[in-house]
Amino acid sequence: MGTASQQTRARALQWARQTIDRLDARLLLEFASGCTSNALITDPDVMLEDAQWASFQSLVRRRESGEPLAYLVGQTGFYGDLLTVTADVLVPRPETEDLVDWALEVLRACDAPSIADLGTGSGAIALALAGAKPDGRVLAVDVSAAALLVAANNRQQLERSNVEFICASWYEGWQAAGLLDLIISNPPYIPASDPHLAGDGVRFEPRLALTDEADGLEAYRAIAAGALARLKPGGWLLVEHGHDQAEVVAELWVRAGLVNVTSRADLSGNPRMTGGQKPAGGPL
Ligand code: GLN
Repeated sequence: MGTASQQTRARALQWARQTIDRLDARLLLEFASGCTSNALITDPDVMLEDAQWASFQSLVRRRESGEPLAYLVGQTGFYGDLLTVTADVLVPRPETEDLVDWALEVLRACDAPSIADLGTGSGAIALALAGAKPDGRVLAVDVSAAALLVAANNRQQLERSNVEFICASWYEGWQAAGLLDLIISNPPYIPASDPHLAGDGVRFEPRLALTDEADGLEAYRAIAAGALARLKPGGWLLVEHGHDQAEVVAELWVRAGLVNVTSRADLSGNPRMTGGQKPAGGPL
């Protein structure tokens, strides 16, 4: 095994499963050989072409060394969309879909909402909201021009023309046409000292999307500081954060003047998102 000798689909899979996750092995084999998951089950004894076997071996080795599956196959699913991803963007995570759910809850009664997604990366959140709210308008902001190219490609693939891109750090140098119904963000929140940054998959992702190179809270400070001036009365600020950051993010939200500040848990029960609302009524 591991040479250019002929392999069946089944034997190739068996080889890969010794070192990488079963599902990853199957997805890489589908990608390298162009066959469907059904074909892998019904015709396991079909021979791989030499080029397919060589490409599969190289992909398995890259996965073994920690490259995320999404980078190897160039795409990932998020909220029902198939997104192109490259090493210029964070791989969208399933738990971020819960943040989109929360956003759609707060926007339920809102016609033609005006939204800003700060640190859009691949455009995952912005495009999901734009798809669910076709009459809305989403400003997708990122400081990385390379990330915005990936996001723009995704917008084109998904035909979501109600997303506009702005290359900027948080709120710097841009102004929305009016006040916003929602500001949403999955910013870099991993503290620079966290060993998770060297973990499987993560060490291949853009550091800019993962850490502020400080205590993991810099983005929340910046996002909170500009929120009230940009939100409509009653508008929401919703963010994802680390499992141990809910309390401190909630405190930042309260200090920034937001009300109804609450956190929500991910599927494993950890508080992973915090939201708050600009007070609805001023003096009449
Ligand atoms: N959830 C990601 C991780 O833990 C981090 C994403 C982020 O920093 N926004 O790998």
